[in-house]
Amino acid sequence: MRRFLTIGLLIACACSACHSGDARGPQGAVVSRPGDALTFAVIGDYGDSGRRERAVAELVAGWNPEIVITLGDNNYPHGEASTIDANVGQYYHRFIAPYHGRYGPGADVNRFFPCPGNHDWGTGNLDAYLDYFELPGNERYYTFTWGPVDFFALDSDDHEPDGVDATSAQARWLESALAASHAPWKVVYLHHPPYSSGPHGPERSAEWPYHAWGADVVMSGHDHIYERIERPDGLYFVNGLGGSRQRYPIEEAVEGSALRFNARQGAMRVEATPTSMRFTFITARDEIVDTRTLTHEPADAGGPPPTAAAQASPSSMRK
Ligand SMILES: [Zn+2]
Repeated sequence: MRRFLTIGLLIACACSACHSGDARGPQGAVVSRPGDALTFAVIGDYGDSGRRERAVAELVAGWNPEIVITLGDNNYPHGEASTIDANVGQYYHRFIAPYHGRYGPGADVNRFFPCPGNHDWGTGNLDAYLDYFELPGNERYYTFTWGPVDFFALDSDDHEPDGVDATSAQARWLESALAASHAPWKVVYLHHPPYSSGPHGPERSAEWPYHAWGADVVMSGHDHIYERIERPDGLYFVNGLGGSRQRYPIEEAVEGSALRFNARQGAMRVEATPTSMRFTFITARDEIVDTRTLTHEPADAGGPPPTAAAQASPSSMRK
């Protein structure tokens, strides 16, 4: 823990230097909040203004998370500047900084970290998104640190100029960024699912060796379902029920699929400490669908053995 805090403070110092000297690298971490614990929310395929998005946003607000990350498709239907504030700021303005929209106050510092989806690229460019959000690095894919977690947001859309397959410049960046990370937890997130039992199915170009490179978990959207996938290489989630008016059917289960759910919109709450990270998918009616906990092996042999617990309810889940 002490080691982590030291690292966090060092990054924080580098960070303020970046702001004053404007020397940040193309994908550098410009956000760092040291701390022992972090609660964050994960929403996917949500930017579809209306009662479904509102219900999920109210659920998320009730958790009082420090930050929100998104799994893409922030701005239906075409990613236009004319719709982005109604689709995003209307529900999440309190997490966004700087916030220049018309729905109320923004955050003190930015607490909203999206990744782009295909709908955000819907005009053929990402201009509306890049103008609306102020994000680290090149803003399309980037890393930042918050509490015990290093986050790595990717751009999995084919328009991405640095490429989207495992040999792309973007993938090389991720590999080196993960190798350079000393955080207790490394969370990778992107829109297109490397593995999914939804109708979009596995996105082959997104099947990178994330876990071999050091990731603890990979989260994606695009299919409007919730799924936990326990592959031999590691843990994956699909989480695309954040507020779109469409929920998708579930098709043939992919390898490692441990739980699939599509009965209602919802979001994930993640609680991280230096030694554990607990993922919970909760519906807009406050039903817990799935819980999964990752723990690091204890440093001393006298501690409890590492555990991985999962439970599921309610009856509407499909196993
Ligand atoms: Zn999509």
